[in-house]
Amino acid sequence: MNAETGLSRRALLAGGTLALASCTPPKSILVHEHILVDFAGAELASRSRYSHDEVIAAAKPKLQAIAKLGCVRFVDCTPNFLGRDPRLLAKLAESCGIEIWTNTGLYAAGAYRYLPSYARTESARELAARWIAEWRNGIEGTKPHFIKIGVNDGPLAELDRKMVEAAAITSLETGLTIASHTGRNAAPEQMEMLLKLKLPMNKFIWVHAQNEKNHQIHAEVARAGAWVEFDGISPKTLDWHQDCVEFMAKEKLLGRVLLSQDSGWWHVGEDNGGNFRGYDSIYRDFLPKLDPKWRTQLLWDNPRSAFSV
Ligand SMILES: [Zn+2]
Repeated sequence: MNAETGLSRRALLAGGTLALASCTPPKSILVHEHILVDFAGAELASRSRYSHDEVIAAAKPKLQAIAKLGCVRFVDCTPNFLGRDPRLLAKLAESCGIEIWTNTGLYAAGAYRYLPSYARTESARELAARWIAEWRNGIEGTKPHFIKIGVNDGPLAELDRKMVEAAAITSLETGLTIASHTGRNAAPEQMEMLLKLKLPMNKFIWVHAQNEKNHQIHAEVARAGAWVEFDGISPKTLDWHQDCVEFMAKEKLLGRVLLSQDSGWWHVGEDNGGNFRGYDSIYRDFLPKLDPKWRTQLLWDNPRSAFSV
């Protein structure tokens, strides 16, 4: 074999790899979605209200669809007492070839009806001890990868503030990031608390930031170092979400933005899971509206950074 032939073979090989790469979609992470939610309330939500097989039959094709579009990690944001089910997630992850992450924490939003009674009587430190134990020992064989809390509208009540404090204690101990479902006007107050508790601001994700219509607040939160999550992307919201992302780009704050759909939701108790939406709209409808140069940052670099421990 002469040098020339060797070179052309290498060139051919490189060309082949290039062709292969161009039809493989870039890898991506969806930071806020749900497989299943049970809105029965903390006392009534129960595994006996659904079967894994029926949920898997409905969820699997939806996950396979996004796997083909490049999704390699799906962050399931369903909290404990709202249908969190790590065994179900593990079965789906295995059969679809996507990583599915679950969480520790508690959800005080929804006027506290998803809180177990112990959450009212225990201190923030005691709640944190439970969450840290879940991180240490796993939840039914799965480690939680983040802390999910929910708080009501601001100004926050004592019970909401307790969630934030417990999350901060847990984060300081474990390194896990806090994703907080945040009611109206409640982001700055949480950040003030976290600052006092000496939590680095990059450990806080403002979930549902798209509900805040004042872009200046998005910018302020991002400049303070927290993550601003625009997560309700659906065919009906494309223009508003585009506006949010483009504003942040103009302010050079894309490095603090997370995107997702808050989609899915096998509704426990409804016929066949009710209106169970898919997860592909962000790929099919939304990304084509954005500058393609942003994709890697928004769906890969930022998610990896936000949830890094
Ligand atoms: Zn959600």
